[in-house]
Amino acid sequence: MKIAILSGKGGTGKTTLSVNLFSILNKGVLIDTDTEEPNSHIFLKGTNVSTSEVYKNHPVVNYEKCDFCGNCGDHCNFNAIIPTKTKVIVFEDLCHDCGFCEIVCPTGAISYKQKVIGTIHTKEITKNKKYHYGKLSIGEISGVRLIESLKEMTDNEETLIIDCPPGVSCSTVAAISNVDYAIVCAEPTPFGISDMKMVVELLREEDIKFGVVVNKSGIGNDDIYDYLKQEEIPLLAKIPFTKERALLYSNSKLITKYDLKFNEIMKDIVKITSGENHG
Ligand code: SF4
Ligand code: SF4
Repeated sequence: MKIAILSGKGGTGKTTLSVNLFSILNKGVLIDTDTEEPNSHIFLKGTNVSTSEVYKNHPVVNYEKCDFCGNCGDHCNFNAIIPTKTKVIVFEDLCHDCGFCEIVCPTGAISYKQKVIGTIHTKEITKNKKYHYGKLSIGEISGVRLIESLKEMTDNEETLIIDCPPGVSCSTVAAISNVDYAIVCAEPTPFGISDMKMVVELLREEDIKFGVVVNKSGIGNDDIYDYLKQEEIPLLAKIPFTKERALLYSNSKLITKYDLKFNEIMKDIVKITSGENHG
């Protein structure tokens, strides 16, 4: 079972939900795909297993061979390579490393240069439980390659929790590929609802089954519940806001270890989302 945990924006409790759900499992793997700001490791506190670098290629033009035909620019879907009459400008950050420009270059003027774009850290909690998180290098703007690496390395895991990047960017799309179910974490406030709607739209486009966990229930109003009912979206749980939980979070503690009620809520979510209950 591969479960993605998403939110329309940062700060809704997505990581809290991910790490606490993971904490009550006997075995499984968690990946933190929020590569710009991974923080699941702050709560899970495992021991180091490995750290590896992730690379990305970008084109380099040999001007001795280039005749400025413009083919590379015409075929790049990401505007990452722009030929002019006298030079070919490459925007490394926009390049998706698809290799198309090399294929269409008639003179063989394009080759690729590799650079490190981030690291993947693997930590172990027990023999049966580990987690990986990707960390994007400073200055890099896209974590997609890192996320693809995290997904590839956990492709065969039976139980996988994916802490997704906030919002509905390319990174989120990469993080939710091949998942069995998605949990949207949302707050019952007007902003919370409008951000959640974008995630709902994305999940429907990708044809992924999902339900919603309302975090900090008790604040805001009932609009979110009306919306879920109207759209026939399963409400998986309501997690009331308490000062004690906020304090545990700010001290980087797993709430399930201290709060029995919270622990029960996590167990209920696991029960609902695992297997036939959402089929
Ligand atoms: S396709 Fe090749 S030859 Fe044509 S402009 Fe690009 S790099 Fe130069
Ligand atoms: S590798 Fe792909 S994305 Fe990058 S510049 Fe070439 S065509 Fe564009």
